Amino acid sequence: MTTVAAYAAPAAKAPLERTTIERRAVGEFDVLIDIEFAGICHSDIHQAREGWGTAIFPMVPGHEIAGVVSEVGPGVTKYAVGDRVGVGCMVDSCRECDNCKAGLQQYCTGSGGPTWTYNAVGKDGQPTYGGYAQKIVVDENYVVRIPDGLSLDVAAPLLCAGITTYSPLKHWNAGPGKKVAVVGLGGLGHMGVKIAAALGAEVTVLSQSLRKKDDGLKLGATHYRATSDPKTFEELKGTFDIILNTVSAPLDFDAYLSLLRTDGAMVNVGIPEEPVHILLSSVFGNRRSLSSSGIGGIPETQEMLDFCAEHQLGAEIELIGADRINEAYERVVNSDVRYRFVIDTATI
Ligand code: NAP
Ligand code: ZN
Ligand code: ZN
Repeated sequence: MTTVAAYAAPAAKAPLERTTIERRAVGEFDVLIDIEFAGICHSDIHQAREGWGTAIFPMVPGHEIAGVVSEVGPGVTKYAVGDRVGVGCMVDSCRECDNCKAGLQQYCTGSGGPTWTYNAVGKDGQPTYGGYAQKIVVDENYVVRIPDGLSLDVAAPLLCAGITTYSPLKHWNAGPGKKVAVVGLGGLGHMGVKIAAALGAEVTVLSQSLRKKDDGLKLGATHYRATSDPKTFEELKGTFDIILNTVSAPLDFDAYLSLLRTDGAMVNVGIPEEPVHILLSSVFGNRRSLSSSGIGGIPETQEMLDFCAEHQLGAEIELIGADRINEAYERVVNSDVRYRFVIDTATI
């Protein structure tokens, strides 16, 4: 066991504070990672505030982890000391179900499903603690390599925001000739715009206002429309092949579905805390689909990192010291983030 400095929420809705946690001893197939950067995902806030239901405390959030391997177990073959690596939302899964065998570990159907990086219980029966910490021990099969072309600070958010947008964009065939709308220009949304544009799609941002329009166009969007303007919904009716909804709050789904063309798909990656309602008439008229997607499997996470390195797609970040985590949470909740807060874990 190693004692490690971390930032934790001691209870639901309580501010995060500095603490120490124990990391397990490095096992046969484990790597010890010196964490350098950890992104702040809106999912951290949903969980630390119990917006999605009862959670485990103290909670060390953080599933956008980038660092350097500092020790490996005797059975480790994929990584060596000094390698630049990342860890995302999962640190284990059953490895035997059809989904795990297909590399879709995020949809593991084994008992208990995937072991999430934090707010979960590991196979050793101990609570898992995430990336707002100086070190983490992870089985090598749930670690990915950060290509040399990406610096660790801008790579960290790719471990969740990057893969969560890359996976559905690939699955629903975003590419040349396809019109993609990205709803919400936050952490996920800005990576969605970059990745969809790099895949060759024509991208429209649908944001609450035009306040971030210049940024959206620089990130790769061709069009930028405000959803507060009713004309947006009139003029874009029947336009999109894919709508990638990254919004953390419930929307008027019927209004957004009307923007899909025949056979278009609206993919929801945002996970609001409240139930949402739709009219089935919003989908049957044009054989539209309403779907969702959860992060991505380990092989696809590696593929995404390689793609992002090839296209030089790091996240746009605001680097903060750990003493600003609580302030950053407030700003994320208020949609005041351009476009991902990343914690310099040396400040923990
Ligand atoms: P974020 O940085 O806060 O971005 C969300 C964006 O949604 C905001 O920047 C804002 O964009 C828009 N928005 C916020 N409140 C809104 C409201 N009431 N009405 C309309 N638009 C609103 O959050 P994030 O880290 O990208 O995460 C987004 C959501 O995805 C969260 O619910 C998170 O839990 C979820 N998530 C899901 C997965 C998955 O695997 N499916 C993975 C990671 C995160 P504008 O200012 O441009 O309107
Ligand atoms: Zn996340
Ligand atoms: Zn499984």
